[in-house]
Amino acid sequence: MTKSDHIIKSLRDDGFRITTVRQAVVDLITYSANPLSSPKLQKILSDKKIKANKTTVYRELEFLLSQNIIKELKFDDGVSYYEITPKDHHHHIVCTHCNNIEHVELPHDLDVHEQKIARKNNFQVTAHTLEFYGICGRCRTASRI
Ligand SMILES: [Zn+2]
Ligand SMILES: [Zn+2]
Ligand SMILES: [Zn+2]
Repeated sequence: MTKSDHIIKSLRDDGFRITTVRQAVVDLITYSANPLSSPKLQKILSDKKIKANKTTVYRELEFLLSQNIIKELKFDDGVSYYEITPKDHHHHIVCTHCNNIEHVELPHDLDVHEQKIARKNNFQVTAHTLEFYGICGRCRTASRI
């Protein structure tokens, strides 16, 4: 079974109906290399001739969030992006020019910094968020920034 088959099967096993939109949204978010926004999802669905208005997509995303299948990400542009709830902790690089977002894993992550904070500030870190903003290669090539 593919990754999205597993998700669909578990929803079905839990007694949820699998609509065309539900199947499509799960597939799109699962196989997208980048986190997707709701407007972007809507556009891809309409390109695929799947009828889904803003409200339908919103409700579907709310449903998938409530089932902990997807995770909502927020960046400086104020738009929500969605990715499949990651198994591995990671961060994101965000192009401020085209808003493309990619996942990045950092070796050893922020372990050293968290240990320092624990010692210096007597503070046990339980979570952190960190995003990198910049200009992606495509945008740099296109506009010679
Ligand atoms: Zn870019
Ligand atoms: Zn990610
Ligand atoms: Zn981290």
